[in-house]
Amino acid sequence: MTIENVRLIPLGGLGEVGKNMMVVEYGDDIMIIDSGSMFPDDEMFGVDLVIPDTSYLHDKKHHIRGIFITHGHEDHIGSLPYTLPALDFPPIYATRMTQGLIQVKLKEHKLLEKAVINVVTSGDRITIGDCVVEIVRVNHSVPDATALAIHTPIGTIVHTGDYKFDHTPTDGRPADFGTLARLGNEGVLVMMGDSTRVETPGYTPSERVINDSFDKIFANAPGRIIIATFASLLSRVQQVIHTAERYERVVALVGRSMVNNVQMAIELGYLNFPKGMLIRAEDINKFPAERVVIICTGSQGEPTSALTRIANQDHRQVRIQPGDTVILSATPVPGNEKMVNRTINNLFRQGAEVLYQSIAMVHVSGHAAQEELKLMINLLRPTYVMPIHGEYRQLILHAKLAYSLGIPEDHIVIGEDGDIVTVSPASIKVTDHVACGNVFVDGLGVGDIGQIVLRDRQVLAQDGILMAVLTVDKETGQPLAGPDIVSRGFVYMRDSEELLESARERILESFVGLNGHASDWSFVKDKIRHTLSEFLYEKTHRRPMILPVVMEV
Ligand SMILES: [Zn+2]
Ligand SMILES: [Zn+2]
Repeated sequence: MTIENVRLIPLGGLGEVGKNMMVVEYGDDIMIIDSGSMFPDDEMFGVDLVIPDTSYLHDKKHHIRGIFITHGHEDHIGSLPYTLPALDFPPIYATRMTQGLIQVKLKEHKLLEKAVINVVTSGDRITIGDCVVEIVRVNHSVPDATALAIHTPIGTIVHTGDYKFDHTPTDGRPADFGTLARLGNEGVLVMMGDSTRVETPGYTPSERVINDSFDKIFANAPGRIIIATFASLLSRVQQVIHTAERYERVVALVGRSMVNNVQMAIELGYLNFPKGMLIRAEDINKFPAERVVIICTGSQGEPTSALTRIANQDHRQVRIQPGDTVILSATPVPGNEKMVNRTINNLFRQGAEVLYQSIAMVHVSGHAAQEELKLMINLLRPTYVMPIHGEYRQLILHAKLAYSLGIPEDHIVIGEDGDIVTVSPASIKVTDHVACGNVFVDGLGVGDIGQIVLRDRQVLAQDGILMAVLTVDKETGQPLAGPDIVSRGFVYMRDSEELLESARERILESFVGLNGHASDWSFVKDKIRHTLSEFLYEKTHRRPMILPVVMEV
């Protein structure tokens, strides 16, 4: 008996940029597409990484047939070290380059042994239960990026992955127009399409245009050239290498993830380094400045990254010197603009010439602009459209764009993370919702930072903390010594003697006439907290976190 519908359940990447994860269910077969991570935003104090909540899958692990990874960017592979163990290591399917990037990541987490990675190439068809998954090449800012066509018994579901159409990509392999057109001719039931760049009219320029800008910069740079980009933006790294070769410069890599990824890409044959061109970071100073290129991480202003360290004069091997040209070859991910701007300011402050996207053509997007999005829809001519990969407004704009191409309104579904979208040949709609949110990674802890811890951190960051230590008589519950008050991040203690003295008095006053309750600890603590917070707000209009400590003797 044929099952009549397919369920599409986005667990990340819809209504946000990052941590992409899509679950596709046909009967008992579950396929997962991508397992990404996201940068924490300003409100998430101390959080290192944000990953999707996979709890929906936890009682269905035995139905998971595989995780298909469309390409090797962090927002598509970043949560693998956490989701793989949580889901009992389902097999991964990825192209060679993507597989290499996954290996680098799993190795760092010591999970490589346990993971099963199947290498696929565009054109491959993988049978998963009653479905066949076809791998389709697209262009993006990393080589070997793919879309997926999942042929189910009720129709074909296409997931575009991140894509653009580039007729002259760095690796010389344009998207597979032929296959996309064939899929359209055979009939596509649903297209899940990348919405990241829907706000931009026209076409995204080819990677090729970067070459011209790099040429100009290399021809005129009086000293060293320092280029920061994503460690996974390997096509950009290749462009730098080509240009460095033309201008007879040697190249050094700085930043752990950059070194690891480039090494892997060289081993797999995805990066071509002319012999003798790659030098060790320790040897940079052995070459004249005008012969050196440094490729580093930190294009997002991440606090511990190479470029940020360089900008803060805190890097072991690289110090900005007169004549340095720094290129930021990446766009700040939304939310990172402030950190990026701070880094740029610091670099200028130290005398470097700094080139970045808003003043020079040093980066092009890896995502399809409006005309390419239209091209994809017209090639596939899907019955239904479901915008993915974008904030809510971008999903809506992508829906409108599909509507403008003649896709009826009730054939377009706007889903958000956790929605269960049920598709049959007759309809597409959101039919249910599953628990789904952000899981925070902080240090070694995964998911142990919840809303309560985060709220505490926000309070601490806003108004600081104040501790009141009080010693009471075990028998009577009356204060014997103290209270001693210690605070951090609230007021400067030495200048606030008077305030703190009044606070102490206020606490002691609150014990007068309290004989009946005074031996009840939680009551006493509440009383102190309440008294203090009222008093401090009255005096300062601040609300520090208050921690009463009561000791009995
Ligand atoms: Zn991407
Ligand atoms: Zn992406």
